[in-house]
Amino acid sequence: MANTKNSKGFSLNEPGGPAQPQKGGRHILWIYAAILMAIGIFYFITNSGSVKTITWQQFEQTMLKNHDVAKVDIINGEQAEVYIKPEKLKLDQYKDVATTSFKLTNPGPHFQFSIGSSESFDRKLDEAQKSFAEGDKVAVNYIKKSNWFAAILIYGIPLIFIFIFFRMMSKQTSGPGGSSIFNFGKSTATLMDKENRSNITFEDVAGLEDAKVEVQEIIEFLKEPENYTRLGAKIPKGVLLAGPTGTGKTLLVKAMAGEAKVPFLYLSGSEFVEMFVGVGASRVRDLFHKAKQIAPCIVFIDEIDAVGRSRASQVYAGANDERESTLNQLLTEMDGFENNTGIIVVAATNRADILDSALLRPGRFDRHIYLDLPNLNERKAIFKVHLRPLILEPNLDLGFLAAQTPGFSGADIANLCNEAALIAAREKKSKVDKPDFINAIDRIIAGTEHKNRIISPREKKIIAYHEAGHATISWLLKNVDPLMKVSIIPRGKSLGAAWYLPEERQIRTTAQFTDMLCASLGGRAAEDVTFGEISSGALDDLEKVTREAYTMVAYYGLNKTLGNISYFDSTGRSEGAFQKPFSEETGKLIDEEVRKLVNETYERTKNILVQNKESLKKLAELLLEKEVVFKEDIEKILGKRPEADVEMINKAAETISPAA
Ligand code: ADP
Ligand code: ZN
Repeated sequence: MANTKNSKGFSLNEPGGPAQPQKGGRHILWIYAAILMAIGIFYFITNSGSVKTITWQQFEQTMLKNHDVAKVDIINGEQAEVYIKPEKLKLDQYKDVATTSFKLTNPGPHFQFSIGSSESFDRKLDEAQKSFAEGDKVAVNYIKKSNWFAAILIYGIPLIFIFIFFRMMSKQTSGPGGSSIFNFGKSTATLMDKENRSNITFEDVAGLEDAKVEVQEIIEFLKEPENYTRLGAKIPKGVLLAGPTGTGKTLLVKAMAGEAKVPFLYLSGSEFVEMFVGVGASRVRDLFHKAKQIAPCIVFIDEIDAVGRSRASQVYAGANDERESTLNQLLTEMDGFENNTGIIVVAATNRADILDSALLRPGRFDRHIYLDLPNLNERKAIFKVHLRPLILEPNLDLGFLAAQTPGFSGADIANLCNEAALIAAREKKSKVDKPDFINAIDRIIAGTEHKNRIISPREKKIIAYHEAGHATISWLLKNVDPLMKVSIIPRGKSLGAAWYLPEERQIRTTAQFTDMLCASLGGRAAEDVTFGEISSGALDDLEKVTREAYTMVAYYGLNKTLGNISYFDSTGRSEGAFQKPFSEETGKLIDEEVRKLVNETYERTKNILVQNKESLKKLAELLLEKEVVFKEDIEKILGKRPEADVEMINKAAETISPAA
C-alpha cells in the first residue's frame, strides 16, 4: 500500500495559501510595536519631572534643617522620595527641580535617595528632627508601588512572543506536508495528483480480468461524464472492493485513476478512528471537501472495516461512539453529493462480511467487486508482471513457478520475485535462476533455514521419524496432495517440513478431508509406532487437525450424527458474542464427534504405519543421512503412488517443467 516512488503526497488547500497569512502576521507585529511605544511615551511623559538623586547628608544638611521638606515617601522600603514645599521651590538651590521639562511647576517628588532600611531611616530621621517642634516634623508615608512598566516588560513581552510563536506554528501546519497539533480534524488523505500521479495502468494489473471489466464503466464515466449525464444515467457513487490482503485492491484503484487520468485521494480507514473524540467525523468532512475541489476524482478509503464495522455486532454498547459518529458522517457525506459530481468513492476491505449494512445500501457502496486469491493462470500472469524488471535465466519456466505457489496473493508473488533476486545477488550470480526461486518459495512458506541450530542426535532421530511418518502417509493415501520433498533442516519455528504440490480445488470431499487429517497425524503416529512414546513436536499438526475436524463437524455438515447442519456465520455478527448459536447438548455432541473423528483417524494412521514399518524406517534413515529427500527417492522406497492419483500426478507434471 506504500505510495509508489513517483507519486507525491501533499495536502490540498495550499496553493497560494501561505503568502497571505504571513502578511497578516507582519501586520500584527507592527501593532504590538506601536502599543509598546505608546506605553513607553506615556510613561516618559508622566515621569518626566526631573528627579535628582542626592545623599542622606545632602538631604539632612540642606533641606531638612531648613524646614524645606513637605513630605517624604518611602517607596517599597527602599527609596525615599522627597517633596519640597512649593514656596521653597523658588529658592536658587531648587531651580533644577522646580519645573518639569514642559516648564510647568514640578509637583514632585523632587529628590530621591536610597535608604538602607526603613528602621534605620526612621532612627536617623528622628535623630535629625530631635530639636524640631512637633508641627515642623516631616510627614513620612510608606508606599508600596509596583512598577507597571517593568511588569509589562517582564511579563508582557514573553507573552507576546509566545503568542506570535503559536500563530506562526498554526500557519506552518497548513504548509506542505503539514500535520501538527492544530490539524486534528483535517483529513490526512494523500493526494495523487494528475501531474505526478502514479503512472500505473491496467498493464500492471495481472489477472483480475472480471474486476477490470467491472471498473471499466467507471473509468469511462470519469473520462467523459457527458456521455452518461446526457442520457440521464446515474453512475454509482461507491464501489466496494473486497478480498484478502495483497490481492491488488490498492493496485486496482491506482490503475483506475491512471487509466481515467484523474487524481485520487487515498486514506486508510484506521486514520479516521483516533483517540480524540470527534476527529473522525471532521476528517470525513474535510476529505469530501477536498474531493469536491478536485473532482472528477477517486476517493479511496482502505480498510473501510475500521469505521464500517457492523453496529449490530458490537457487543459492548457505547464502546465505539467515536467510530459510529465517523460512520454516520461518512454516510451523510455520501448521501450529500449528487450522483454526477464526478466523485467516485472506492472502499477496500478484507472483511466484507462484517460491514454495516447501511454502508452497502443503494446510493452508497452498492457496487461490489470481489478479488480472490489468484488461480494458476492468474499467478502466471502476475509472475509475468513482476519478473519484468529482473534479469532472468533465459528459459525460466513460469508454469513451474505458478504451480509451486498455490495460495500466494499478488503481493506474495511480488515479494517472492524480489526475494529470489536478493538470493541471487547474495550469491553474486549474473542472473536469477530456478534454484533461487525455489529457495525463495521455501523461505516464504517455511521461514529461513537454520543449519546451525543445535539438535541432539536423539532429537534428530525423532524428527526424522516424524517427518517420514508424514511423508509415508501422504504417499500412500490417494487423496492427499502430491508430495514433493521432505526435509529435516530446521526452518523458521519448525524442525522439519514436508512439501506438497497443492491442487487447485473449489470443494473438498469427505475422503479428502479425512486423508488430509491422516497425513497431518502421520508425524505423531510414526513416533508412537516407532518409539512407543510421543513428543511435543506435533503441536502444529494437532492444532491444524483440531481446527479441520471442527470445521468438518460444525461448519461443513460432514458428520453423520449432527447431520446437515452448519453453525458457520458468514455475517460475522456473532463474532465475540457470548452466546453460542447451539445448545449446550449440541456443544457437547460437537466436542464428542470431533474427538471421535480424530481418534478414529489416528488409529487408521497408526495401522497404515504399522503395515509399512519397514518403509518408514528406510525413509527415516535416508532422511537422517541426507536431510532432504525428494519424491524420486520416496518412490524407490514406497513404490508408485496409488492408482487413482496417476491422473493427478500427470496433471501436476504438466505444470512442472520436465527438468523438475
Ligand atoms: P491490497 O490493497 O489488496 O492489500 P495491494 O494492492 O496493496 O493489495 O497489493 C500489493 C502489491 O502486490 C501491489 O503493489 C503489487 O505489486 C502486487 N500485486 C497484487 N495483486 C497484483 C496483481 N493482480 N497484479 C500485479 N501485481 C499485484
Ligand atoms: Zn508434523
